[in-house]
Order: sequence, then C-alpha cells, then structure tokens
Amino acid sequence: MERLYNFSAGPAVLPRDVLVQAGDELVNWQGCGMSVMEMSHRGKEYMGIQAQAEADLRELMDIPANYKVLFLQGGASSQFAMVPMNLLRGKNCADYLNTGEWSKKAIKEAKKFAQVNVVASSEDRNFSYAPTQDVWRLDAGAAYVHYTPNETIGGVEIFWTPETGDVPLVADMSSCILSRVIDVSKYGVIYAGAQKNIGPAGVTVVIVREDLLGQTLPGTPTMFDYKIHADNESMYNTPPTYGIYIAGLVFKWLKAKGGIAVMEQQNIAKAALLYDYLDATDFYSSPVARENRSRMNVPFTLKDAALDEDFLKGAKARGLVQLKGHRSVGGMRASIYNAMPVEGVQALVEYMKEFEKARG
Ligand SMILES: *Cc1c(COP(=O)(O)O)cnc(C)c1O
Repeated sequence: MERLYNFSAGPAVLPRDVLVQAGDELVNWQGCGMSVMEMSHRGKEYMGIQAQAEADLRELMDIPANYKVLFLQGGASSQFAMVPMNLLRGKNCADYLNTGEWSKKAIKEAKKFAQVNVVASSEDRNFSYAPTQDVWRLDAGAAYVHYTPNETIGGVEIFWTPETGDVPLVADMSSCILSRVIDVSKYGVIYAGAQKNIGPAGVTVVIVREDLLGQTLPGTPTMFDYKIHADNESMYNTPPTYGIYIAGLVFKWLKAKGGIAVMEQQNIAKAALLYDYLDATDFYSSPVARENRSRMNVPFTLKDAALDEDFLKGAKARGLVQLKGHRSVGGMRASIYNAMPVEGVQALVEYMKEFEKARG
C-alpha cells in the first residue's frame, strides 16, 4: 500500500527518504554488522552518529558556541518541571505567557516550584490569539520568562521574539522548531519534544545557554539537572540512541533541502494554500486571529458540525488521515510540518473544495 497523507499533530509524518534510508540500514548500519539499536552508546560508531546529529543541528539553527545541545528523554512535559528546577537560580518567581493548552500545562507544573506570574492570557477568547508584548505585565524580579511560540492544539503561533532584557527567555518550541529561522542568541533555553518536527517520539532536544547551568533547586534529581547532561554530552545515562539517529537523518535531509530558510518559505507557501482557501469560503472557517495563524497546525471548522463525521470519512477514503481536531477546539486540524509534502496540502484543499461543492 502506498503512503497516506498523515496530518497528525504528533507523532507526525517523517520524510519518506529518511524512512527508506533507515530501512536500508536497519539490520546492518553502514557495514558495521549491527543495527544502530544494538550499538553501545559508548562505542565509536554510535558516538559518531550522535556527534554528527548535534553538529548538523547546530549548523541548521546557527546555534552559538556558548549554548549546549542536549538530547534527553521525558518529552517536553518533563521540561515543564526541569525549566523551573534549573532556571530559578535562587529566585522564587517566574513569568509565563498563557496562550493555550500547552502554556497552561507548563504553568501548572511551574507552580509546584515557583510563584508564577501570568504576564498575559488569551483565555478570554478561547485561546484564539496571542497577546502582544505591549499588554504583558513582566515582573522585573522574575527568574525567567516562558512562552509557547506555537500552540499545537489551538494553532496559535507567535512570529515575533519577546524582548525580556537580561531575564532569560524560555521557549517550548515542540511544534515549530526547525520550521522557520530564529535567533537562538535571544533565548536562555529552547526545548522541544522530537515527535513533531524532529524525529520519532522519545527524544527531547534542549538548547541551553551555558551561564544558566549549575544552579539547580536543592533536591533536584540528578537526571533533571541540565549541567549533568551537558557535562556528560547527553551520555550520563543511556540516551535514546535510535531516536537520535533518526533525528540525525532528518537534520541531514533538512540540510539537503537547503536548510531552515528554504523550509520556512515552503512552510509559508503550504500554509497559504490552506488559509487562502479558508478565507475564500463561508463553508469552512479558521478560528485563529490572522496574525497568529500557525504555519504548522491549521485548525478549521465546518459551518455545520453535523457534517464533521462525513468529512473525516471522505478524507480517509482519499488517504487523508488524522484530521480530527482536538476536543478543546473541535472541528478539524491539519498539521503540516516540514515533512508534509506540498502535494499533501494540495490534495487536502482539493478534497475540501469537492466536499463543499457536494454538501455546501
Ligand atoms: C506535544 C507538545 C508537548 C508535549 O510533548 P511530550 O513530548 O508529549 O511531553 C508540549 N508542548 C507543545 C507545544 C507540544 O506541541
């Protein structure tokens, strides 16, 4: 059977070329007589794979030398705790922007460790936009400022970088990392679960500025200390070796495609195919404020929710899957990460037009 167009929010589509190469190398990696899965993480083959993955990620994102790149486990959800444990550094309050479900989870976890100051919230309009910085109320004494540049569930993206002066800026980039060019030097910490735009579930990428290391909250477990992982090059314990290997293949694929600036242009074009159509019809609509429309996760609703089931059924029959929206938003959601080919988005828009013609 040929591959489907998978619009899942995560775990999500991976580049076909990457899967094919991984398949070719599955049993015997580059003639070494074993699978990457079977290699010692301390052996020279695997250490080379991980070092190359890190080097390629550094090149793709232009990560400055004074930042550590960590490959951890526990998902972005563990970072909701690790960030306060590592970044409070003797202070007891932290600033958080609340733009949706993932922000809320980060805030809830941080409250276990710190006094959380919510600088602004878009809950008043069901998280359909992001408050601009002029309405934020930053606390000058905060240890850091946390935000979620792309809310995967609500499809709300912030395309500008907050200005926080000397207070470290922390970003949960799980669903937008590698989708557009960012200036890493503006951030204290960037973290992302891999299963959206990096690779398979099980790897968490953390990019942290070196001067923020080594001042963890008393009682922080060893495994939750960024410095332990930084000092041990993400090999304090057994890293998620196979996932890191696949992530490395994705980084190579991105480089071959021309890098992040090229991906960004493609992502703009892919998202425009969908949004332009949503704007041109009354049958479907986007619930998100225009300036915050995510390029990665595109929620939309049908005029008549009673047609949702039929819409999904028809989509599935054409090989367009995982389009059901999150229950908090309803309707549909098309996640169109880097690895979603433009042909997939075109096929979706075509189907949407035909469904409208038949049922509108
Ligand atoms: C998926 C996601 C998470 C949760 O990631 P896990 O790896 O499942 O813990 C957190 N934040 C954002 C923005 C996400 O998209």
